[in-house]
Amino acid sequence: MPSVDDAPSADMPADAPVIVWFRNDLRLSDNPALSHAVASGRPVLCLFVHDPQHAREHALGAAAQWWLDGGLRALHADLARMGAVLHVACGDALALVPRMAAQAGAAEVVWNRRYDPLGRETDTAIKATLKHAGVIAHSFAAGVLYEPWTVRTRAGDAFRVFTAWWRAARASGEPLPPLPAPGHVHAAVSPGAWEGCCVGIDALRLVPVSPDWAGGLREAWQPGEAQARDRLHHFVDGGLGGYADARDRPDLPATSRLSPDLRFGHISPRQAWHAAVAAVRGGAAGGMGEQDLEKFLSELGWRDFAVSLLYAQPELVSCNFRTEFDAMPWRNDARDLCAWQQGRTGYPIVDAGMRQLWRTGWMHNRVRMIVASFLTKHLLCDWRMGEAWFRDTLVDADIASNVINWQWVAGCGVDAAPYFRVFNPVLQARRFDPDGTYVRRWVPELAGVPTSCVHAPWTCDPAIRARVAYPSPIVDLQGGRARALAAWKGLSDAP
Ligand code: FAD
Repeated sequence: MPSVDDAPSADMPADAPVIVWFRNDLRLSDNPALSHAVASGRPVLCLFVHDPQHAREHALGAAAQWWLDGGLRALHADLARMGAVLHVACGDALALVPRMAAQAGAAEVVWNRRYDPLGRETDTAIKATLKHAGVIAHSFAAGVLYEPWTVRTRAGDAFRVFTAWWRAARASGEPLPPLPAPGHVHAAVSPGAWEGCCVGIDALRLVPVSPDWAGGLREAWQPGEAQARDRLHHFVDGGLGGYADARDRPDLPATSRLSPDLRFGHISPRQAWHAAVAAVRGGAAGGMGEQDLEKFLSELGWRDFAVSLLYAQPELVSCNFRTEFDAMPWRNDARDLCAWQQGRTGYPIVDAGMRQLWRTGWMHNRVRMIVASFLTKHLLCDWRMGEAWFRDTLVDADIASNVINWQWVAGCGVDAAPYFRVFNPVLQARRFDPDGTYVRRWVPELAGVPTSCVHAPWTCDPAIRARVAYPSPIVDLQGGRARALAAWKGLSDAP
């Protein structure tokens, strides 16, 4: 829990600047750290620190790096319109932030809180170093609806079941209304000494050059606060109507696609929440009812719940919540993993999802569940292998949501789907992509295959099959399911 912050010391010169340290909050509106800095009346220095050294689970994957590049450029331009500059440094924040605060003679360093294990550790250490140096460090809530320590059981423990957590969260009241963007930022003159640590966004080398594999990402997305606002309004003013029923259909544009915007903070969850509520109460979203609204708000709730679980148990980034899964005899077959990654498993819905992910850096939630179940159950691959692939390829890759959802699907997580519930990818596809539109879009080899067999091409007429260059299934569904259940039963039967 953050400590109570001090007031600026009286002997600090009135023109000593405030540093706003941007992290997962690349926006001007509903940014309490920025609003605080502007309201202080002191000149403002805006800073972003890229630390490429983070290891494993905390490392930024390649698709997320591509997004970050665009997000930083958009923030840079937005700040410039306000009269401010985004200073970008590269290196270890623990060393850089206190040093840059000293070089700037800063009165305060302010930021919006993050909750992942490494982020918390870093921020706590930086706060202590700054305070020791007489610089005020002030942090704010901006990235979640409910901070992890605010929703607790009566005994003061963290919740382990979403429905109970959600009920308690809702009972604690509505999230605060979002703050407006400041009208103007009184920018401080850049300290000369910062020239040594600041670099241009180009120098971070976040986008792929040789080869440039990001064409699909560029076609699908434009990162930035203005674009996030457009996506939000497009969704609540139209798409949200019918959300509760249609959100499981990957063939329909039924969900918000706000996950990368929320991940990088181009919008805040409070903005999403209040925009959706206002659309229902103001009647802007045609045909949208309370049921659609409640479902959408609860999905935002799942995002917070994942944050709160990782906050309570940081070891979940790599350890099974249910420790009996430590003995799971994963097969981890390299050829199976490769076929899954490349979308060549012979199961159209799995391959469509994996190819959508590779091309656009995003995959529909229902399909994420199907491909994750297929990997961990039919192929018996450790969920951490899938989590690592998603981390590298998703533009919305987020440590809490990714780890908690993977553990949930694999059956080893908190409030998880039981392991014996194995998704059948063919039945799932027939139910959620009834006309095969989604599969045909991402697996064009199947474009000419009739709907009756598009989700199970091996059942097609041999003459049609002969014309289609599509792999045969890499695993038999019944056999893979039986193998997974036997492995799991071995765990349950173990003394
Ligand atoms: P919408 O349906 O419009 O939902 C609105 C917002 O609610 C989303 O943008 C997201 O922020 C949040 N949300 C929705 N579902 C979930 C969920 N199950 N868990 C947490 N938050 C949720 N989401 C990520 O943001 N980053 C990840 O790295 C990530 N990894 C996942 C891995 C697996 C195996 C699975 C099954 C799900 C994962 N999700 C992850 C959750 C979910 O799939 C995406 O958030 C969702 O598909 C984003 O699409 P949307 O913005 O259109 O969602």
